[in-house]
Amino acid sequence: MLDIIQIPVLTDNYIYLLHDTVSGETAAVDPALAEPVLRVLNQHGWQLTYILNTHHHSDHVGGNLELKHQTGCQIIGAKADKHRIPAIDRSVQDGEIINIGKHTAKVITTAGHTSGHIVYYFADDNALFCGDTLFVMGCGRLFEGSATELWQSLQTLKALPADTRVYCAHEYSENNARFALSVEPDNLALQQKMRQIQERRANNLPTVPSTIDEELATNPFFREDSPALQNNLNCENSAPVEVFAKLRRLKDNF
Ligand code: ZN
Ligand code: FE
Repeated sequence: MLDIIQIPVLTDNYIYLLHDTVSGETAAVDPALAEPVLRVLNQHGWQLTYILNTHHHSDHVGGNLELKHQTGCQIIGAKADKHRIPAIDRSVQDGEIINIGKHTAKVITTAGHTSGHIVYYFADDNALFCGDTLFVMGCGRLFEGSATELWQSLQTLKALPADTRVYCAHEYSENNARFALSVEPDNLALQQKMRQIQERRANNLPTVPSTIDEELATNPFFREDSPALQNNLNCENSAPVEVFAKLRRLKDNF
């Protein structure tokens, strides 16, 4: 089994620890900080084998150097980000496979938020670690890519099996739900999800992970083909990628 532990850090970041109970191998996904990771490793008696970085932003790689220094772990990141992922050991490209014990993940490149962004898809474990590309009911801002690039990246994630769990790197769901309702107020699944999220946040519980299925029903950035949404944005005759670009612009100013 692959154990997944979610560590909330900073204002709204999540670090994930993945542990294979058979081999004992353990990976940290996007360690913003070293100390919380070391603490959880210690609690469980685990040794850190790998760091998996999705992109170069400091709230995703901030713990790299200290963790490598303390544990000797191997750092994996995108080939395109080789020059800006601190202490990277192995650079990977689209379609490459990485292992944690016998668990395998496929690397998928998802440019848009940054040019070198990658995600890690564990097909047999139904788990996607998607950094800042896809959020619960949202998507990353366009810092280094075009709307077309991010839209294409999201098309790949949209096509993953419906029960895939979406482990994104930020707790942005409440604000994202508010925006989603502003562009699709009559979406019943979305109304229901908003209530669920408010309840969980009121009790200080995470709203991550969701599933691809839930995102298809509620995430406006997965729903650019919804007639109701297009109607509300006055773009019934626009190409899907244009609807997406408009949504991204609206969200930037929300
Ligand atoms: Zn980022
Ligand atoms: Fe981030």
